Amino acid sequence: RAKEGGRNRLQFFDTHMQAAVDERTNLENDLRLGLQTDQLVLHYQPQVDAAGRLTGVEALVRWQHPTLGLISPAQFIPLAEECGLILPLGQWVLHTACQQLRVWARQPHTAHLTIAVNVSALQFAQESFVHDVLAVVHETGAMAQRLKLELTESLLVKDVEGMIAKMKELKANGVGFSLDDFGTGYSSLRYLKRLPLDQIKIDQSFVADAMTDAKDEAIVATTVALGKSLHMMVIAEGVETQAQRDFLDSHGCHHFQGYFFGRPGPVAELARFWRDETQALQTQ
Ligand code: C2E
Ligand code: MG
Ligand code: MG
Ligand code: MG
Repeated sequence: RAKEGGRNRLQFFDTHMQAAVDERTNLENDLRLGLQTDQLVLHYQPQVDAAGRLTGVEALVRWQHPTLGLISPAQFIPLAEECGLILPLGQWVLHTACQQLRVWARQPHTAHLTIAVNVSALQFAQESFVHDVLAVVHETGAMAQRLKLELTESLLVKDVEGMIAKMKELKANGVGFSLDDFGTGYSSLRYLKRLPLDQIKIDQSFVADAMTDAKDEAIVATTVALGKSLHMMVIAEGVETQAQRDFLDSHGCHHFQGYFFGRPGPVAELARFWRDETQALQTQ
């Protein structure tokens, strides 16, 4: 009897494991197909300066699944990284963002805008990464100076020399770099000093509690000071309220991204920024 129970338990467990594996395989196949059939969409989230003017956007990918609806990147980027689909996916994101830059370059009121693109560790580790990025820039006719690549500290764990070499080569061609989710991963100030970064992003977890938690406030203040002394621009992410915006501003952080200024959305939603500016000019 005990033996039987054991076997049943084992079978039960197997069935569940099998179901999980099946679901994963399905999703992986769906994603492969989705990539080929235009199911991915790029949303853009505004980044603004102290005067509330749009300076650029971050490109954030979404997956319009035929039956499951709009899937967030938190749900499929890790899967894409595990099965290697992040490479074609990342290439698609880069290409789409650079095409958008090319469109914006044709209009005087949008020509200055930058697009920040998230890059996965696996993508960056490719031998051909520098070549691939520059090829997309050339193909689309985008200005490299308007493209920013967002890296995370997870990239810092191996081959720092190789990483710096790739960054320098891209920077020599005009591409900028931003360190995403700063302070949440493996941060080494020694590396931070050596990486040719243009910008660091204060992670939203620090922004969220900076006004109520003295330790988070200290982290925000220190990050701003660090960025300034290393000649890097500092931008805060996850800014949801006017009070947070003002608090960050008073701590010397003058660039913001967050729901308070706009959620990620289709490119057309950004038009209110240049409409607002035109109206401001007309009423002056
Ligand atoms: P991330 O690069 O740190 O992007 C910021 C995330 O915070 C986005 O989530 C954005 O929608 C969200 N966010 C922005 N403002 C606020 C706010 O005020 N409050 C709150 N609570 N959240 C805010 P999203 O779009 O779900 O993306 C999640 C992550 O997925 C990104 O984090 C990034 O690591 C990854 N990701 C997104 N697109 C791509 C991509 O094209 N390639 C790669 N490799 N990763 C991507
Ligand atoms: Mg990012
Ligand atoms: Mg981030
Ligand atoms: Mg993140």
